[in-house]
Amino acid sequence: MFLAAFLALFASTAASQAAALSAAHHLHIELVPAEMKLIGRDDITVQTDDTGILAFRVSENLTQIKVMVGGDPRDFEFNSGRLLLYLEPQEQAAELQIRIHYSGIFDDPVPLRPVNTENPGYGVTGTISPKGSFLLAGAGWYPELINGQATYRVTVDAPAGLIAVTAGRSRGHLTENGKTISIWEVDYPVRGLALSVARYVVEEKSVGQVTAATYLLPQNQHLAASYLRATAGYIALYSDLFGTYPFQKFAVVENFFPTGFGFPSYTLMGGTVLRLPFIVHTSLGHEIAHCWWGNGVYVDYDTGNWSEGLTSYVADYLFKEMKSEKAALDARRQWLRNFATLVRPDNDFALSQFQSRYNPVTKTIGYDKSAMVFHMIRQLIGEEAFWGSLRDLYRARLFRQTSWSDLQRTFENRGKQSLQNFFDQWVYRKGAPRISLDAVSANHTGNSWQVTGKITQDLPFYDFSLTLALETGQQTITRKISVSDQVTFFELNSADPPLKLTADPANDIFRRLAPAEIPPAVNALKSSSSVVTVLSDQLNPALEKAARTLALSLGLKHNKFITEDELNRQRLAENDILIIGRPRSADFLKNIPAAVDIRAKSFSLEKSVYDKSSDAFFGVFNHPYAKNRITALFMPLSTKYAEIVAAKITHYGKYSYLAFQSGKNQAKGFWPVEQSPLIHEWDQGQ
Ligand SMILES: [Zn+2]
Repeated sequence: MFLAAFLALFASTAASQAAALSAAHHLHIELVPAEMKLIGRDDITVQTDDTGILAFRVSENLTQIKVMVGGDPRDFEFNSGRLLLYLEPQEQAAELQIRIHYSGIFDDPVPLRPVNTENPGYGVTGTISPKGSFLLAGAGWYPELINGQATYRVTVDAPAGLIAVTAGRSRGHLTENGKTISIWEVDYPVRGLALSVARYVVEEKSVGQVTAATYLLPQNQHLAASYLRATAGYIALYSDLFGTYPFQKFAVVENFFPTGFGFPSYTLMGGTVLRLPFIVHTSLGHEIAHCWWGNGVYVDYDTGNWSEGLTSYVADYLFKEMKSEKAALDARRQWLRNFATLVRPDNDFALSQFQSRYNPVTKTIGYDKSAMVFHMIRQLIGEEAFWGSLRDLYRARLFRQTSWSDLQRTFENRGKQSLQNFFDQWVYRKGAPRISLDAVSANHTGNSWQVTGKITQDLPFYDFSLTLALETGQQTITRKISVSDQVTFFELNSADPPLKLTADPANDIFRRLAPAEIPPAVNALKSSSSVVTVLSDQLNPALEKAARTLALSLGLKHNKFITEDELNRQRLAENDILIIGRPRSADFLKNIPAAVDIRAKSFSLEKSVYDKSSDAFFGVFNHPYAKNRITALFMPLSTKYAEIVAAKITHYGKYSYLAFQSGKNQAKGFWPVEQSPLIHEWDQGQ
C-alpha cells in the first residue's frame, strides 16, 4: 500500500480536533472525458460544531463554484484549495443542508512507461481522459470536509461503457440513453475517496457476506477467474485470523497506466503488473491484508507507520511460512542481508520514524526490519498470544488512528509481560545488534562434555533471548539464553563430543550480519566500482555480443574487456572480475563453491547436471587474489539464448547463482554461509 502516507497529511490534523463534525455526502459527478472535465454537485448533510466555520478541501483549479445553504445561495471564500463557509449562530451545532456545484479540469500528464518503480502513481493525482480517469482524494475532485468524518453516496454519470469504481459497496452500473451510471455507497468513516473510471468488464463472486470483484479491461478479462478465486481465499484466510472483513467488497481494479495502489476495499494496478503470474500469490494478498492493517485499523503517522511491517509479516512472509519452514527462513535471512547491505549508520532511522517507502533504504527499514520485529514479538509472547493480540487490536481499533504504543499495549495484555524495553530498542531506536560467539571451548569431565563460551555485543547493547544449538554426532541440543550487556556467558552439557555450536540457528533475531555472512551476489557486481570483463580463450566469438549486453544491463562502471591472453595478475587483483565462458586458467575458479562443477560442455549445480546447448550458468563468488572482491562467471553452453539470458541476469540481484534453460530461469539461490561469527565448529576427532 502506498496511499497511506499521502492520506496521513489529512488524518493527523483530523485526530487532534475533538469536534463532532460529520457529513453525509450525496455526490453526483458527470464526467466529460473529451474535455478532461467533470461537473460536480454535492448535497451534503452536515452536523456542524460550534466553531462557526466550515472548511472543505477541493482542487484549487475548480471553477463555477456555487454554494447553497438550506436552499439559499451563500457567499464563500475560496483560495489555495480551501472552500470556507461562515455560519450564523443558529447554524452552529446544528444539522445543515449544503449544496455545492462546481466543475474542474483534471489533466495531469500520464506516463505510460514508468521509470521509477518506488513511486506508484508517478506523480499523477488527477486525470480524466476518454481512455480512463484516475482521481486520487488529494486531487480535490469532491469537497472533503476538513476535520470531520464523512460518508458518501457517489453517482458517476459517464459516456456509455465507462464504469466507475471507488470504495464502499456497489449499487450497480446502469447503461441507458448513451450514459453509464455507476452508484457507490460508503458508510464507514473513509479517509478520502479515490475514483477510477474505464471501459471495465465487471465480474463478481460471493465470499460469505463479501463480494469479490474484478474490474478489468477487456484484453485482460481472462485473468478474472484466478483473481476472484485468490481474493476469496485471502478474505477467508484473514477473516479467520483477524476477524470479519471490514468492507462489503474487495475489487481488483485495472488502471489504464501503471500504478500499484492499495485503497480501502480495492487495489488499483496497471495491466502489465496484473498479468505477472506471481501477483495473485504475492501483492494481491498483501493488499487484501491491508484492509485489516492500514486501511481498516488506521495508522497514526505521528508515531510511525507500523502497517507495512505488519502487512508484510502476515502476508508476504506468512505465505512463505505456509510453503515451508525453509522458505520462511530464507525470507528472514534475506531481510537481514538487505539491512546489512543497504542500511548504513548514516542512513539508518528508527521504525517510529518510518512513514512510507520511496527507496531501498526506507523499504528495508519500514517493511523488512519492521516485519522482523513482529516476528520477534511472536517468538517472545508465543503463537496464541500473538494472533490473539492481532484479533484484539482489530476489534478495538478498526477505523481508528493507531500507534506503535497501541500495538505495544495489546501485545503486553495478551503476552502478560512488559514490552517497554523491547519497543525501546527495536521500535524507538535505530540500528541492530552486532553479536559474536566467542571463547568457545569443550571440556570432557567424567562421562559428559561441558561446553562454555560467551556472546559478545558491540555498542549499543540489546536485550534478547537467543537460541543456542549444539550439534553432536547423535543429536542437537538447543537452549535459550538471555543476552544483555557486552558479554553473556553460557554453559551447555552434552553426553557426546560436540561438533558444532550455532547461535540463533533459525535467524530469529534481527541483527547486523558480519560481512562474511553475506554470500556474494549479483548486486555486488552491479554496485562494483570497477570490473574487468575477461573473455575466455575458448570463447565462441559470437558470444561477445551477449557479453556486452550483460555488461550493459548490469550497468557496470569502469568496465574493460580483455582476453585471457592479455591478463596480468596485478590488474586482476585491483578489480572485480566478470568472466565470460569457461576460463583456461583454473585459478579463476578456485573459490567457486563446492555446489558447482564447471566442465567444458556442461555444468552441475546442487547435483543437477546441465548439459544442453541451450543451458547457461551465472554465479558470483570470491575473488581468487583479492579479499573483499568478487568474481562472476557467465557461461552459456552455446550462443542459443545467451543474449536473452544476459539481459535477464540483472533482475536477479540478490542471488549468488543462476541456471537457465532455453532462456528461462531454472535454479537460483545463495551460497551457504561458510563463515559466521555465530558458528563454532570443532575439528573432527578432537
Ligand atoms: Zn503495503
